[in-house]
Amino acid sequence: MSEQNITYIDHNQYDELVLNGDKVIVDFYSDECPPCEALAPKFESLAELYGQDIKFIKIFRQKNRELAETLGVKSSPTVLFYNQGKLVGDFLSGAVKRSAMMQNLDALISPQRVSEIHQAIKPKQTHCDILILGGGPGGLTAAIYAAQAKRKVILVDTALPGGQVSTTHLVSNYPGFIEAQHGYMLSHYMSEQALHAGTEYRVAVEVSEIDFKNKSLVVDGIETITAKKIIVSTGSSPRLLGLPGEVEYRGRGISYCATCDGKYYDDKEIIVIGGGNSAVEESLFLTQFASKITIIHQFDKLQANKTAQEQALAHPKINFKFEHEPRAFIKTEKGMDVVVENLKTHESQTLSADGVFIWVGMKPNLDGLGDAFELDEWGYIKTDALMHTNIPDVFAVGDVSSKPFRQITIAVSDGTIAAIQANKELPI
Ligand SMILES: Cc1cc2nc3c(=O)[nH]c(=O)nc-3n(C[C@H](O)[C@H](O)[C@H](O)COP(=O)(O)OP(=O)(O)OC[C@H]3O[C@@H](n4cnc5c(N)ncnc54)[C@H](O)[C@@H]3O)c2cc1C
Repeated sequence: MSEQNITYIDHNQYDELVLNGDKVIVDFYSDECPPCEALAPKFESLAELYGQDIKFIKIFRQKNRELAETLGVKSSPTVLFYNQGKLVGDFLSGAVKRSAMMQNLDALISPQRVSEIHQAIKPKQTHCDILILGGGPGGLTAAIYAAQAKRKVILVDTALPGGQVSTTHLVSNYPGFIEAQHGYMLSHYMSEQALHAGTEYRVAVEVSEIDFKNKSLVVDGIETITAKKIIVSTGSSPRLLGLPGEVEYRGRGISYCATCDGKYYDDKEIIVIGGGNSAVEESLFLTQFASKITIIHQFDKLQANKTAQEQALAHPKINFKFEHEPRAFIKTEKGMDVVVENLKTHESQTLSADGVFIWVGMKPNLDGLGDAFELDEWGYIKTDALMHTNIPDVFAVGDVSSKPFRQITIAVSDGTIAAIQANKELPI
Protein backbone atom coordinates (compact mmCIF):
# COMPACT_ATOMS: atom_id res chain seq x y z
CA MET A 1 0.00 0.00 0.00
CA SER A 2 1.30 3.48 -0.72
CA GLU A 3 0.37 7.01 0.10
CA GLN A 4 0.85 8.27 -3.47
CA ASN A 5 -2.85 9.02 -3.93
CA ILE A 6 -3.05 11.10 -0.75
CA THR A 7 -2.31 14.84 -0.53
CA TYR A 8 -1.30 16.36 2.80
CA ILE A 9 -2.40 19.98 3.07
CA ASP A 10 -2.75 22.72 5.69
CA HIS A 11 -5.40 25.41 6.18
CA ASN A 12 -3.82 27.68 3.51
CA GLN A 13 -4.64 25.15 0.77
CA TYR A 14 -8.10 24.23 2.06
CA ASP A 15 -10.02 26.73 -0.14
CA GLU A 16 -8.12 25.83 -3.29
CA LEU A 17 -8.08 22.06 -2.93
CA VAL A 18 -11.22 21.31 -0.94
CA LEU A 19 -13.74 24.12 -1.45
CA ASN A 20 -12.80 24.66 -5.09
CA GLY A 21 -12.23 20.97 -5.68
CA ASP A 22 -14.65 18.48 -7.20
CA LYS A 23 -15.12 15.31 -5.14
CA VAL A 24 -13.00 15.24 -2.01
CA ILE A 25 -12.57 13.18 1.15
CA VAL A 26 -10.71 14.84 4.05
CA ASP A 27 -9.21 13.05 7.04
CA PHE A 28 -8.43 15.30 10.03
CA TYR A 29 -5.82 13.27 11.90
CA SER A 30 -3.50 13.70 14.89
CA ASP A 31 -0.25 12.30 16.21
CA GLU A 32 -0.25 9.67 18.96
CA CYS A 33 -3.87 8.83 18.17
CA PRO A 34 -4.63 5.08 18.05
CA PRO A 35 -7.94 5.53 16.17
CA CYS A 36 -6.03 7.60 13.57
CA GLU A 37 -3.47 4.80 13.24
CA ALA A 38 -6.32 2.30 12.80
CA LEU A 39 -7.84 4.45 10.07
CA ALA A 40 -4.63 5.17 8.11
CA PRO A 41 -4.29 1.83 6.21
CA LYS A 42 -8.00 1.85 5.33
CA PHE A 43 -7.71 5.42 4.02
CA GLU A 44 -4.65 4.44 1.96
CA SER A 45 -6.28 1.37 0.45
CA LEU A 46 -9.41 3.35 -0.46
CA ALA A 47 -7.23 6.09 -1.98
CA GLU A 48 -5.77 3.45 -4.29
CA LEU A 49 -9.23 2.28 -5.31
CA TYR A 50 -11.08 5.61 -5.62
CA GLY A 51 -8.09 7.93 -6.23
CA GLN A 52 -8.91 8.51 -9.93
CA ASP A 53 -12.38 9.82 -9.11
CA ILE A 54 -12.02 11.40 -5.68
CA LYS A 55 -9.25 13.51 -4.15
CA PHE A 56 -7.93 12.06 -0.88
CA ILE A 57 -6.69 14.75 1.50
CA LYS A 58 -5.22 14.63 4.99
CA ILE A 59 -5.03 17.61 7.36
CA PHE A 60 -3.04 17.50 10.60
CA ARG A 61 -5.66 18.69 13.09
CA GLN A 62 -3.28 19.80 15.85
CA LYS A 63 -1.64 22.35 13.51
CA ASN A 64 -4.88 23.44 11.84
CA ARG A 65 -7.11 23.82 14.87
CA GLU A 66 -8.91 26.96 13.74
CA LEU A 67 -9.99 25.35 10.47
CA ALA A 68 -11.03 22.16 12.28
CA GLU A 69 -13.09 24.08 14.81
CA THR A 70 -14.81 26.15 12.11
CA LEU A 71 -15.88 22.88 10.53
CA GLY A 72 -17.07 21.44 13.85
CA VAL A 73 -14.27 18.87 13.90
CA LYS A 74 -13.67 18.22 17.59
CA SER A 75 -11.78 14.94 17.62
CA SER A 76 -9.34 12.90 15.57
CA PRO A 77 -9.81 11.21 13.28
CA THR A 78 -12.77 12.91 11.62
CA VAL A 79 -13.54 12.18 8.00
CA LEU A 80 -15.52 14.61 5.86
CA PHE A 81 -16.85 14.30 2.30
CA TYR A 82 -17.24 17.15 -0.21
CA ASN A 83 -18.97 17.43 -3.55
CA GLN A 84 -18.04 20.62 -5.44
CA GLY A 85 -17.13 22.48 -2.29
CA LYS A 86 -20.21 21.41 -0.30
CA LEU A 87 -20.04 19.14 2.72
CA VAL A 88 -22.09 16.02 1.97
CA GLY A 89 -22.70 12.61 3.52
CA ASP A 90 -21.72 11.52 7.01
CA PHE A 91 -19.40 13.13 9.52
CA LEU A 92 -17.35 10.07 10.53
CA SER A 93 -15.21 10.08 13.65
CA GLY A 94 -13.61 7.74 16.19
CA ALA A 95 -13.60 4.09 15.12
CA VAL A 96 -14.19 4.82 11.43
CA LYS A 97 -15.11 1.70 9.46
CA ARG A 98 -14.04 1.02 5.90
CA SER A 99 -17.62 0.19 4.91
CA ALA A 100 -18.88 3.57 6.20
CA MET A 101 -16.25 5.39 4.14
CA MET A 102 -17.07 3.30 1.06
CA GLN A 103 -20.77 4.11 1.34
CA ASN A 104 -20.01 7.82 1.34
CA LEU A 105 -17.43 7.55 -1.45
CA ASP A 106 -19.86 5.52 -3.59
CA ALA A 107 -22.48 8.22 -3.16
CA LEU A 108 -20.10 10.73 -4.79
CA ILE A 109 -19.62 8.84 -8.07
CA SER A 110 -21.69 7.23 -10.80
CA PRO A 111 -23.17 3.73 -10.31
CA GLN A 112 -21.00 2.51 -13.18
CA ARG A 113 -17.79 3.68 -11.51
CA VAL A 114 -19.00 2.17 -8.23
CA SER A 115 -19.42 -1.19 -9.89
CA GLU A 116 -16.01 -0.96 -11.67
CA ILE A 117 -14.27 -0.01 -8.42
CA HIS A 118 -15.96 -2.76 -6.44
CA GLN A 119 -14.92 -5.29 -9.08
CA ALA A 120 -11.33 -4.10 -8.82
CA ILE A 121 -11.16 -4.94 -5.10
CA LYS A 122 -8.64 -7.75 -4.72
CA PRO A 123 -9.37 -10.30 -2.00
CA LYS A 124 -6.47 -10.88 0.37
CA GLN A 125 -5.41 -14.04 2.23
CA THR A 126 -3.43 -13.87 5.47
CA HIS A 127 -2.30 -16.69 7.70
CA CYS A 128 -1.26 -16.41 11.34
CA ASP A 129 -0.45 -18.68 14.25
CA ILE A 130 -2.93 -17.22 16.72
CA LEU A 131 -6.00 -15.19 15.84
CA ILE A 132 -7.54 -13.25 18.69
CA LEU A 133 -11.14 -12.15 18.34
CA GLY A 134 -11.78 -9.17 20.65
CA GLY A 135 -9.30 -6.68 22.10
CA GLY A 136 -10.41 -6.14 25.71
CA PRO A 137 -8.07 -7.02 28.60
CA GLY A 138 -8.47 -10.77 27.93
CA GLY A 139 -7.61 -10.57 24.23
CA LEU A 140 -4.87 -7.98 24.71
CA THR A 141 -3.15 -10.06 27.39
CA ALA A 142 -3.34 -13.16 25.18
CA ALA A 143 -1.83 -11.07 22.36
CA ILE A 144 1.04 -9.85 24.56
CA TYR A 145 1.95 -13.38 25.67
CA ALA A 146 1.56 -14.97 22.23
CA ALA A 147 3.47 -12.23 20.40
CA GLN A 148 6.24 -12.28 22.99
CA ALA A 149 6.49 -16.03 22.31
CA LYS A 150 7.31 -14.99 18.71
CA ARG A 151 4.05 -16.24 17.24
CA LYS A 152 2.40 -14.37 14.38
CA VAL A 153 -0.61 -12.89 16.14
CA ILE A 154 -3.51 -11.01 14.58
CA LEU A 155 -6.04 -9.31 16.83
CA VAL A 156 -9.40 -8.50 15.28
CA ASP A 157 -11.88 -6.15 16.94
CA THR A 158 -15.09 -4.70 15.57
CA ALA A 159 -14.36 -1.57 17.65
CA LEU A 160 -11.07 -0.04 18.79
CA PRO A 161 -9.01 -2.12 21.24
CA GLY A 162 -9.58 -1.64 24.97
CA GLY A 163 -12.93 -3.30 25.57
CA GLN A 164 -15.12 -2.24 28.47
CA VAL A 165 -12.15 -0.84 30.37
CA SER A 166 -11.73 1.95 27.85
CA THR A 167 -15.14 3.33 28.82
CA THR A 168 -14.81 2.76 32.57
CA HIS A 169 -14.16 6.01 34.40
CA LEU A 170 -11.82 4.83 37.15
CA VAL A 171 -10.36 1.41 37.91
CA SER A 172 -9.12 1.14 41.48
CA ASN A 173 -8.57 -2.61 41.79
CA TYR A 174 -6.08 -3.40 39.03
CA PRO A 175 -2.83 -4.40 40.78
CA GLY A 176 0.24 -2.24 40.34
CA PHE A 177 -1.33 1.19 40.76
CA ILE A 178 -1.83 2.85 44.14
CA GLU A 179 -4.10 5.54 42.72
CA ALA A 180 -7.20 4.59 40.73
CA GLN A 181 -6.43 4.60 37.01
CA HIS A 182 -8.54 6.11 34.25
CA GLY A 183 -9.94 3.11 32.36
CA TYR A 184 -9.03 4.55 28.96
CA MET A 185 -5.38 4.93 30.04
CA LEU A 186 -5.18 1.40 31.45
CA SER A 187 -6.59 -0.03 28.23
CA HIS A 188 -4.32 2.24 26.17
CA TYR A 189 -1.23 0.85 27.97
CA MET A 190 -2.41 -2.73 27.35
CA SER A 191 -3.10 -2.04 23.70
CA GLU A 192 0.25 -0.31 23.11
CA GLN A 193 2.03 -3.18 24.89
CA ALA A 194 0.36 -5.73 22.60
CA LEU A 195 1.34 -3.71 19.52
CA HIS A 196 4.89 -3.27 20.81
CA ALA A 197 5.14 -7.04 21.30
CA GLY A 198 4.41 -7.48 17.58
CA THR A 199 0.66 -8.05 17.41
CA GLU A 200 -0.96 -7.04 14.12
CA TYR A 201 -4.24 -5.20 14.52
CA ARG A 202 -7.35 -5.30 12.38
CA VAL A 203 -9.54 -2.96 14.40
CA ALA A 204 -12.75 -0.99 13.76
CA VAL A 205 -13.49 -3.63 11.14
CA GLU A 206 -16.47 -5.67 10.06
CA VAL A 207 -16.13 -9.38 10.72
CA SER A 208 -18.03 -11.96 8.67
CA GLU A 209 -17.92 -15.58 7.57
CA ILE A 210 -16.44 -16.89 10.78
CA ASP A 211 -15.69 -20.58 10.51
CA PHE A 212 -14.33 -21.82 13.84
CA LYS A 213 -13.95 -25.40 12.59
CA ASN A 214 -11.61 -24.33 9.80
CA LYS A 215 -10.30 -21.41 11.84
CA SER A 216 -10.92 -18.65 9.37
CA LEU A 217 -12.79 -15.38 9.17
CA VAL A 218 -13.24 -12.53 6.73
CA VAL A 219 -12.45 -8.95 7.67
CA ASP A 220 -14.11 -6.00 5.89
CA GLY A 221 -15.28 -8.37 3.16
CA ILE A 222 -11.81 -8.53 1.59
CA GLU A 223 -9.26 -10.18 3.85
CA THR A 224 -9.58 -13.85 4.76
CA ILE A 225 -7.52 -14.63 7.83
CA THR A 226 -6.77 -18.24 8.70
CA ALA A 227 -5.09 -19.36 11.90
CA LYS A 228 -3.77 -22.40 13.71
CA LYS A 229 -5.47 -21.34 16.94
CA ILE A 230 -8.25 -18.90 17.75
CA ILE A 231 -8.81 -17.17 21.07
CA VAL A 232 -12.34 -15.77 21.45
CA SER A 233 -12.34 -12.77 23.78
CA THR A 234 -15.38 -10.82 22.62
CA GLY A 235 -16.44 -9.88 26.17
CA SER A 236 -19.89 -8.84 27.22
CA SER A 237 -22.26 -5.90 26.73
CA PRO A 238 -25.00 -4.29 28.78
CA ARG A 239 -28.17 -6.30 28.88
CA LEU A 240 -31.23 -4.55 27.49
CA LEU A 241 -34.43 -4.32 29.54
CA GLY A 242 -36.58 -5.00 26.49
CA LEU A 243 -38.97 -2.15 27.30
CA PRO A 244 -40.83 0.15 24.91
CA GLY A 245 -38.65 3.09 23.84
CA GLU A 246 -35.36 1.53 24.98
CA VAL A 247 -33.89 0.63 21.60
CA GLU A 248 -35.54 3.58 19.89
CA TYR A 249 -33.96 6.17 22.20
CA ARG A 250 -30.62 4.46 22.72
CA GLY A 251 -28.03 7.21 22.27
CA ARG A 252 -30.82 9.82 22.16
CA GLY A 253 -31.62 10.07 25.86
CA ILE A 254 -30.83 6.52 26.99
CA SER A 255 -27.20 5.62 27.64
CA TYR A 256 -25.20 2.65 28.95
CA CYS A 257 -21.87 4.46 29.42
CA ALA A 258 -21.30 7.23 31.98
CA THR A 259 -17.74 7.92 30.81
CA CYS A 260 -18.95 8.41 27.23
CA ASP A 261 -22.10 10.44 27.87
CA GLY A 262 -21.88 11.90 31.41
CA LYS A 263 -20.48 15.16 30.04
CA TYR A 264 -23.78 15.91 28.27
CA TYR A 265 -25.59 16.12 31.61
CA ASP A 266 -23.96 19.14 33.25
CA ASP A 267 -26.40 20.47 35.84
CA LYS A 268 -29.12 18.14 34.52
CA GLU A 269 -31.30 15.45 36.06
CA ILE A 270 -30.60 11.79 35.46
CA ILE A 271 -32.50 8.58 36.16
CA VAL A 272 -30.37 5.47 36.69
CA ILE A 273 -31.87 2.00 36.36
CA GLY A 274 -30.11 -0.70 38.42
CA GLY A 275 -28.65 -1.18 41.88
CA GLY A 276 -25.55 -3.34 41.47
CA ASN A 277 -21.88 -2.31 41.33
CA SER A 278 -21.96 -0.72 37.88
CA ALA A 279 -25.16 1.26 38.54
CA VAL A 280 -23.98 2.61 41.89
CA GLU A 281 -20.35 3.30 40.94
CA GLU A 282 -21.31 4.96 37.68
CA SER A 283 -24.00 7.03 39.49
CA LEU A 284 -21.28 8.32 41.81
CA PHE A 285 -19.24 9.28 38.74
CA LEU A 286 -22.27 11.05 37.24
CA THR A 287 -22.59 13.27 40.35
CA GLN A 288 -19.71 15.32 38.88
CA PHE A 289 -22.09 16.48 36.18
CA ALA A 290 -25.71 16.01 37.18
CA SER A 291 -27.69 18.18 39.59
CA LYS A 292 -29.84 15.22 40.66
CA ILE A 293 -29.72 11.45 40.18
CA THR A 294 -32.59 9.09 40.92
CA ILE A 295 -31.68 5.42 41.15
CA ILE A 296 -34.56 3.07 40.40
CA HIS A 297 -33.98 -0.39 41.81
CA GLN A 298 -36.23 -3.43 41.97
CA PHE A 299 -35.05 -4.59 45.41
CA ASP A 300 -35.38 -2.88 48.80
CA LYS A 301 -31.63 -2.29 49.07
CA LEU A 302 -28.62 -1.83 46.81
CA GLN A 303 -26.58 -4.83 45.62
CA ALA A 304 -23.32 -2.91 45.12
CA ASN A 305 -20.15 -3.30 47.21
CA LYS A 306 -20.35 -1.78 50.69
CA THR A 307 -18.11 1.25 50.04
CA ALA A 308 -20.00 2.30 46.93
CA GLN A 309 -23.33 1.79 48.70
CA GLU A 310 -22.28 3.94 51.63
CA GLN A 311 -21.03 6.71 49.37
CA ALA A 312 -24.19 6.66 47.26
CA LEU A 313 -26.56 6.55 50.23
CA ALA A 314 -24.78 9.53 51.79
CA HIS A 315 -24.53 11.56 48.58
CA PRO A 316 -26.78 14.65 48.56
CA LYS A 317 -27.37 14.45 44.79
CA ILE A 318 -28.48 10.79 44.76
CA ASN A 319 -32.08 9.75 45.51
CA PHE A 320 -33.54 6.26 45.50
CA LYS A 321 -36.75 4.60 44.43
CA PHE A 322 -36.48 1.10 45.83
CA GLU A 323 -38.89 -1.68 44.89
CA HIS A 324 -39.76 0.04 41.62
CA GLU A 325 -39.26 -1.18 38.06
CA PRO A 326 -39.30 0.75 34.81
CA ARG A 327 -42.03 -0.13 32.34
CA ALA A 328 -41.51 2.30 29.41
CA PHE A 329 -39.33 5.15 28.17
CA ILE A 330 -40.95 8.14 26.50
CA LYS A 331 -39.07 10.95 24.72
CA THR A 332 -40.12 14.43 25.83
CA GLU A 333 -39.06 17.98 25.11
CA LYS A 334 -37.04 18.08 28.36
CA GLY A 335 -35.44 14.67 27.83
CA MET A 336 -36.93 11.36 28.91
CA ASP A 337 -39.93 10.24 30.91
CA VAL A 338 -39.74 6.88 32.62
CA VAL A 339 -42.92 5.06 33.55
CA VAL A 340 -42.22 3.10 36.74
CA GLU A 341 -44.26 0.57 38.64
CA ASN A 342 -44.25 0.30 42.42
CA LEU A 343 -43.73 -3.43 42.92
CA LYS A 344 -45.60 -3.41 46.23
CA THR A 345 -48.69 -1.38 45.30
CA HIS A 346 -48.52 -1.97 41.51
CA GLU A 347 -49.24 1.72 41.00
CA SER A 348 -47.64 3.41 38.01
CA GLN A 349 -45.97 6.78 38.07
CA THR A 350 -44.12 8.84 35.46
CA LEU A 351 -40.74 10.33 36.36
CA SER A 352 -39.09 13.00 34.24
CA ALA A 353 -35.39 13.59 33.68
CA ASP A 354 -32.97 14.89 31.08
CA GLY A 355 -31.52 11.44 30.46
CA VAL A 356 -31.53 7.82 31.56
CA PHE A 357 -28.60 5.47 32.22
CA ILE A 358 -29.23 1.72 32.40
CA TRP A 359 -27.03 -0.85 34.19
CA VAL A 360 -28.93 -4.09 34.72
CA GLY A 361 -26.32 -6.71 34.01
CA MET A 362 -24.42 -7.99 31.03
CA LYS A 363 -24.75 -10.53 28.20
CA PRO A 364 -22.01 -12.35 26.24
CA ASN A 365 -21.03 -10.87 22.87
CA LEU A 366 -21.75 -13.95 20.78
CA ASP A 367 -24.07 -12.65 18.09
CA GLY A 368 -23.30 -14.69 15.00
CA LEU A 369 -20.57 -16.62 16.85
CA GLY A 370 -22.24 -18.83 19.39
CA ASP A 371 -23.83 -21.57 17.32
CA ALA A 372 -20.93 -24.01 17.38
CA PHE A 373 -20.00 -23.54 21.04
CA GLU A 374 -21.14 -25.42 24.07
CA LEU A 375 -22.71 -22.73 26.28
CA ASP A 376 -23.72 -22.58 29.95
CA GLU A 377 -27.31 -21.93 30.99
CA TRP A 378 -26.75 -18.14 30.75
CA GLY A 379 -25.31 -18.35 27.23
CA TYR A 380 -21.58 -17.98 28.08
CA ILE A 381 -18.97 -20.26 26.42
CA LYS A 382 -17.95 -23.26 28.53
CA THR A 383 -14.19 -23.87 28.83
CA ASP A 384 -11.88 -26.21 30.67
CA ALA A 385 -9.19 -24.94 33.06
CA LEU A 386 -6.86 -24.26 30.12
CA MET A 387 -9.54 -22.17 28.39
CA HIS A 388 -10.20 -24.76 25.64
CA THR A 389 -13.73 -24.68 24.26
CA ASN A 390 -15.52 -27.71 22.81
CA ILE A 391 -14.12 -26.76 19.35
CA PRO A 392 -10.57 -28.06 18.81
CA ASP A 393 -7.93 -25.28 18.75
CA VAL A 394 -10.44 -22.63 19.80
CA PHE A 395 -10.11 -21.02 23.25
CA ALA A 396 -12.42 -18.58 25.05
CA VAL A 397 -11.29 -16.07 27.67
CA GLY A 398 -12.64 -13.25 29.81
CA ASP A 399 -16.23 -12.12 30.13
CA VAL A 400 -17.50 -14.16 27.18
CA SER A 401 -16.62 -17.42 28.95
CA SER A 402 -18.55 -19.16 31.70
CA LYS A 403 -17.35 -18.13 35.18
CA PRO A 404 -18.67 -16.90 38.53
CA PHE A 405 -17.03 -13.43 38.41
CA ARG A 406 -16.15 -11.01 35.64
CA GLN A 407 -13.30 -8.61 36.32
CA ILE A 408 -10.28 -7.23 34.48
CA THR A 409 -7.84 -9.35 36.48
CA ILE A 410 -9.83 -12.47 35.64
CA ALA A 411 -9.89 -11.67 31.90
CA VAL A 412 -6.14 -10.99 32.09
CA SER A 413 -5.56 -14.31 33.83
CA ASP A 414 -7.66 -16.20 31.26
CA GLY A 415 -5.80 -14.52 28.41
CA THR A 416 -2.49 -15.53 29.94
CA ILE A 417 -3.54 -19.17 30.32
CA ALA A 418 -4.98 -19.44 26.79
CA ALA A 419 -1.92 -17.86 25.15
CA ILE A 420 0.59 -20.00 27.05
CA GLN A 421 -1.40 -23.15 26.32
CA ALA A 422 -1.99 -22.31 22.64
CA ASN A 423 1.72 -21.60 22.23
CA LYS A 424 2.59 -24.91 23.90
CA GLU A 425 0.32 -26.80 21.51
CA LEU A 426 1.94 -25.25 18.42
CA PRO A 427 5.11 -26.71 16.94
CA ILE A 428 8.26 -24.74 17.79
C1 LIG B 1 -19.24 0.10 33.90
C2 LIG B 1 -18.24 -0.99 34.19
C3 LIG B 1 -17.27 -0.82 35.15
C4 LIG B 1 -16.34 -1.84 35.43
N1 LIG B 1 -15.41 -1.63 36.41
C5 LIG B 1 -14.50 -2.59 36.66
C6 LIG B 1 -13.48 -2.38 37.65
O1 LIG B 1 -13.43 -1.32 38.28
N2 LIG B 1 -12.59 -3.39 37.86
C7 LIG B 1 -12.63 -4.57 37.18
O2 LIG B 1 -11.78 -5.43 37.41
N3 LIG B 1 -13.59 -4.80 36.25
C8 LIG B 1 -14.51 -3.85 35.96
N4 LIG B 1 -15.48 -4.07 35.02
C9 LIG B 1 -15.50 -5.39 34.32
C10 LIG B 1 -14.39 -5.45 33.25
O3 LIG B 1 -14.44 -4.28 32.45
C11 LIG B 1 -14.56 -6.69 32.39
O4 LIG B 1 -14.57 -7.84 33.22
C12 LIG B 1 -13.42 -6.83 31.39
O5 LIG B 1 -13.33 -5.69 30.56
C13 LIG B 1 -13.61 -8.07 30.52
O6 LIG B 1 -12.59 -8.11 29.57
P1 LIG B 1 -12.75 -8.95 28.22
O7 LIG B 1 -11.46 -8.83 27.51
O8 LIG B 1 -13.28 -10.28 28.52
O9 LIG B 1 -13.91 -8.24 27.38
P2 LIG B 1 -14.29 -6.75 27.01
O10 LIG B 1 -13.60 -5.76 27.86
O11 LIG B 1 -15.78 -6.73 26.96
O12 LIG B 1 -13.73 -6.59 25.52
C14 LIG B 1 -14.28 -7.32 24.45
C15 LIG B 1 -13.79 -6.75 23.14
O13 LIG B 1 -14.30 -7.58 22.07
C16 LIG B 1 -14.79 -6.78 21.01
N5 LIG B 1 -15.82 -7.52 20.30
C17 LIG B 1 -17.09 -7.76 20.65
N6 LIG B 1 -17.71 -8.53 19.73
C18 LIG B 1 -16.81 -8.79 18.77
C19 LIG B 1 -16.83 -9.55 17.55
N7 LIG B 1 -17.92 -10.19 17.15
N8 LIG B 1 -15.72 -9.60 16.81
C20 LIG B 1 -14.59 -8.95 17.21
N9 LIG B 1 -14.50 -8.22 18.35
C21 LIG B 1 -15.59 -8.15 19.12
C22 LIG B 1 -15.31 -5.54 21.71
O14 LIG B 1 -15.32 -4.43 20.80
C23 LIG B 1 -14.30 -5.35 22.84
O15 LIG B 1 -13.21 -4.53 22.45
C24 LIG B 1 -16.40 -3.07 34.72
C25 LIG B 1 -17.37 -3.24 33.72
C26 LIG B 1 -18.29 -2.22 33.45
C27 LIG B 1 -19.32 -2.41 32.38
